[in-house]
Amino acid sequence: MNSNQTIIDFENVYVNYGMTTVLENINLKINKGENWVILGPNGSGKSTLMKLFSHDLYPNTQYRFKKEIFGKDRWDIFELKKHLGIISNGLQSRFSGFSPAQSAYDIVLSGYYSSLGVYRHHCFSDEHLQKVKEVMEFLEISKLKDKQFAQMSSGEQRRCLIARSLIHNPEAFILDEPTTGLDIKAQHSFINMLQKLSQNACIILVTHDVTEIFPQITHAALIYNRTIYKQGKKEDILNSANLSEIFEADIDLEHENGRYYIKSIK
Ligand code: ADP
Ligand code: MG
Repeated sequence: MNSNQTIIDFENVYVNYGMTTVLENINLKINKGENWVILGPNGSGKSTLMKLFSHDLYPNTQYRFKKEIFGKDRWDIFELKKHLGIISNGLQSRFSGFSPAQSAYDIVLSGYYSSLGVYRHHCFSDEHLQKVKEVMEFLEISKLKDKQFAQMSSGEQRRCLIARSLIHNPEAFILDEPTTGLDIKAQHSFINMLQKLSQNACIILVTHDVTEIFPQITHAALIYNRTIYKQGKKEDILNSANLSEIFEADIDLEHENGRYYIKSIK
């Protein structure tokens, strides 16, 4: 696509909700070949930042800013979503509300129309159907094929939505708190799946939970006080001092085999 292979290129971005500024002076550059974690406490502005990536929000135009996704500042939202797989609780809720009875298979297939399920007027080729089979096998959800969305576990629903966005082979995935509500085993297998996904696409993981960070993550951005407190290679960023600062507690962060955990907190 763009020659320099930049996925996200933001400079001096501000976001307001009404009179309240929730993000200020956001400078962030994410390149192809990198996997990022965007880490910050509850309410720090992570989901707001994610909505800027997905074009669901627009920056405050009082400031001069740069906001490019894949090297472009304007996008048709349907076109953008073919390049950027976006998985959020909001998306999951929309499917629960509007398409509870659609099967996993139809939901994955609906990726072709970016719709909330398959409808009578939709037509699909054999290639489309074959692709659905492939992505469901890749994410190991073939057995969910006939299961209705409302009857799936939260982890199954998220896998199903990831499969739906894989239809277009997106260059990047953005996932907002993707393991929230999953039990230990479901979280473990979900993280394994993200690792597999990272073989073919850039992963941007938005979370408050350091245990979600997996070895293939290369970079980290810490959100604190309405802005990016620090960003860079994860080795330089993910440490006790920085985490203590953004979570406003005395945190002892440890890591082993590329996985992080909180050893103590005071
Ligand atoms: P996070 O995802 O890190 O928990 P959010 O981006 O959801 O944080 O929220 C950042 C701040 O913006 C919070 O103070 C939150 O209360 C506020 N906020 C989020 N959404 C809205 C909205 N639609 N209207 C007004 N304030 C909002
Ligand atoms: Mg959030």
